[in-house]
Amino acid sequence: MEKKFRVFATCDIGEAIDLLRTRGYDVEVYPHPEAPPKSVILDRVRSGIDGLITTLRDQIDAEVFEAGKGKLKVVAQIAVGFDNINRADANRYKVPFTHTADVLTEATAEFAFFMLGALARKMWAAERLTRENQWGFWHPYLPFLGDEVTGKTVAVIGTGRIGLAFIKKCVGFDMNVLCYDPAYQNHAFVKTIDEIQELRHVRGLVKEKPWIKYVPLQEALRSADFVSVHVPLLRKGESETPTYHLFNEETLGWMKSTAYLINTSRGPVVDEAALARALRENWIAGAALDVYEKEPLPLSSPLRDPTIADRCRLMPHFASAARITRLSTDPDKGMAGRCAQGLIDVLEESYGGDVTKMPYVVNKEAFAR
Ligand code: NAD
Repeated sequence: MEKKFRVFATCDIGEAIDLLRTRGYDVEVYPHPEAPPKSVILDRVRSGIDGLITTLRDQIDAEVFEAGKGKLKVVAQIAVGFDNINRADANRYKVPFTHTADVLTEATAEFAFFMLGALARKMWAAERLTRENQWGFWHPYLPFLGDEVTGKTVAVIGTGRIGLAFIKKCVGFDMNVLCYDPAYQNHAFVKTIDEIQELRHVRGLVKEKPWIKYVPLQEALRSADFVSVHVPLLRKGESETPTYHLFNEETLGWMKSTAYLINTSRGPVVDEAALARALRENWIAGAALDVYEKEPLPLSSPLRDPTIADRCRLMPHFASAARITRLSTDPDKGMAGRCAQGLIDVLEESYGGDVTKMPYVVNKEAFAR
C-alpha cells in the first residue's frame, strides 16, 4: 500500500497531477489561472500538506516555512529559476526545494535566438505593414531596413545551461561569440565550438572563420552587435557578482548604438527605466524582452512608450512555453514531469532518503552530513 501524501499545487501542471494521483497522492490544485494570494498558500500549508508545487509567481519565504513547520517536506518549483524562493529560509527550516533545470534549456535558448532575429529583421513592424495595408511598393530601403544576423558578433552574458545552448544556435549563423561569466567558464565547450567553426570554414561553408572567446563584461558589451542575457537573478548579498540591475545606465552606455539587447533571464536583471531611456535616446538600436521587473508588464511601464515600439519587442514570459517542454510527464523531457519527480523523490525518500543525492533538489547544502 502506497503512503498517501497531501499536496497543494498553486497552479495546474497538466497530466503530471494525474500521475501523482495514480500513486495515491491527495492533490489539490488551485482552480484559477492567476497565482493564488499568499494567504491561500499559507492556509493550505498550515492545514498540514506534505508537498507544495509552486511557480515563479509565488513568494516562498520564512512565513510559508513557519506555517508548514514539522509537516511540509518539500517545495517543488516548476521552473529552473528559483529567485521567488528564499533559499536561506528554506535551509533554516530544512525544507528541500526542487527545480526543473535542463528540460527547458533548448526551448528557452531557441526562443531567445528567435527574439534576436525578429528584433533585428523588424519582423513585427514588417508584418504590421502587410496587415494594415501599408505595403504600397517594393523599394530598396523604404519604409525601413533591418540588420543581418549572420556573421555578426554576439555577447552571451552567463554561460550556464541556457547560455551555452544559445551559443550552439549562434554557430549555425556563423556568429562570433563573446562570452562573459564571472563564476563559470566552460573552456572545453569553447574549444568544441572553435573546432566546429574551424570545420565550417575549412569545408567552405563560411568565408571567414568565426571565433569565440571569454572576455570581461565591458569588452563584451563594447564590441557586440547583439547581447543576450542568460543569468539567474541574484540580489545583493546572494552572490559576489549579483545580477540585479546588471544592465543599468552605465552598462547600457557601454553598448554600441547599433547593438541590440535580448533578455530572457529575469526582469530585475535589467533596470527598465534605464533601458527605456537608452531606447528613447538611441544609445542602443533595440531590445527584446521576455521578462520584466514586474509581471505582467504594467500599463504604465515606460517600455510601452509608442515612440520606441518599433525597436522594443515585448514577450509575455514565454521562452519556455513550448508544448513538450512545459507539459511532458517524462522527467527527462518536460518541466511538469520533472517537477512531479522532484516532489516524489523527496516524499518517497528515493536515493535512500539522501536529499543530497536527489538530482532536482537545489538546496542540497542544507542536508550535507
Ligand atoms: P545556470 O545556472 O545553468 O546558468 C546561469 C549562469 O549565469 C551560470 O553559469 C552563472 O555562473 C552565471 N552568472 C551568475 N552571475 C553572473 C553575473 N553576474 N554575470 C554573468 N554571469 C553570471 O542557469 P540556466 O539554466 O542557464 O538558466 C538561467 C536563468 O534563465 C534562470 O535562472 C532563469 O531565471 C532564466 N530562465 C528564464 C526562462 C524564461 O521563460 N524566460 C526560462 C528558463 C530560464
